Amino acid sequence: MKNCKLNIAGTLLLLLIGATVSAQTGMPPIIPIWDANKVELKLQKLNNDIYAIIPTTAEKETSMGIPQATTGGFIVGSKGVLLIEVMLSKRLYDQEVKLIHSVTDKPIIYAVNTSDHGDHCFSNYLLPAATIVIQNEFAKENLSQNYDYIKHFMVTLFGTNRGIENSVYRAADIVIPKNSNLKIDLGDEKLVELLNVGTAQSPADLFVWMPNQKIFWAGNPFIAESPAIPWLFDGFFLEPAANLKKVYDFLPEDAVVIPGHGRITNKAGIKYTIDYVQELKKQVEAAVDKGLTLEQTKEAVKMKDYDKGYVLFDWLHFNFNLPNAYKDISDNKKK
Ligand SMILES: [Zn+2]
Repeated sequence: MKNCKLNIAGTLLLLLIGATVSAQTGMPPIIPIWDANKVELKLQKLNNDIYAIIPTTAEKETSMGIPQATTGGFIVGSKGVLLIEVMLSKRLYDQEVKLIHSVTDKPIIYAVNTSDHGDHCFSNYLLPAATIVIQNEFAKENLSQNYDYIKHFMVTLFGTNRGIENSVYRAADIVIPKNSNLKIDLGDEKLVELLNVGTAQSPADLFVWMPNQKIFWAGNPFIAESPAIPWLFDGFFLEPAANLKKVYDFLPEDAVVIPGHGRITNKAGIKYTIDYVQELKKQVEAAVDKGLTLEQTKEAVKMKDYDKGYVLFDWLHFNFNLPNAYKDISDNKKK
């Protein structure tokens, strides 16, 4: 795994170097992708003592294909609060705390980060000292070794002076290794399962599942419903393709899904991600079988049927999703 550690930052850095060379590679069409200085968060009650935290724009803009800020949530247990995502900056973290205080005076006893990307974990340093921070094992390893690099990567996509520079590394207290899970009983039937199924977007993913209430925090692997497509920019394709399907199959039809960056949806709502990834896999396999180069594959596999207005479609599809699929599928064929 050693060489995987620089993936997000490394890929982006290569991309930035490439940005001046080619118009096709390069930066997203908008920077910041969303503006942490403008995002307003609100509560959405899901069940007794269970809340999602969602950007106020998500309800209207998700289906318009406009990238949304990070979603999160919290569960009020008998002893205290379990918080899901701490957000990118102090400004957003403070909004979360205010939302929590609007429904309970209990302390935040657990904070879960579903990714090592800064918008999920960069405000850990602001949590009370007593809060127990929980991450995927790889996320902790990567953050402990490459924090400045990840900060640089976040600033590149989300802008300077958005509070990202102020973040200070705080080590997680509990980590969940690959193919493991952790169950936390918050009392009153509020059981929370934290699942590390391996790479679904990055090796740092963690899913949050409440089996009794059928509520699922999907994090970055399921960014949002259509027209959003996945951000497979951490250098992996085949493992995410298999794991996204596995997670999708695991979910019951009536599950409530809080995607990583969009309005609350359901199992049907995240099917678009599965369909896009399976179609990309099929078409790139066919291209590799024909012996096409990467450039020829980009010409042949435009997947215009799936380009339904997501602002980041071209950037993600041609710079990351397709090249990573091509790399994994070609490498696999050589074996
Ligand atoms: Zn995110």
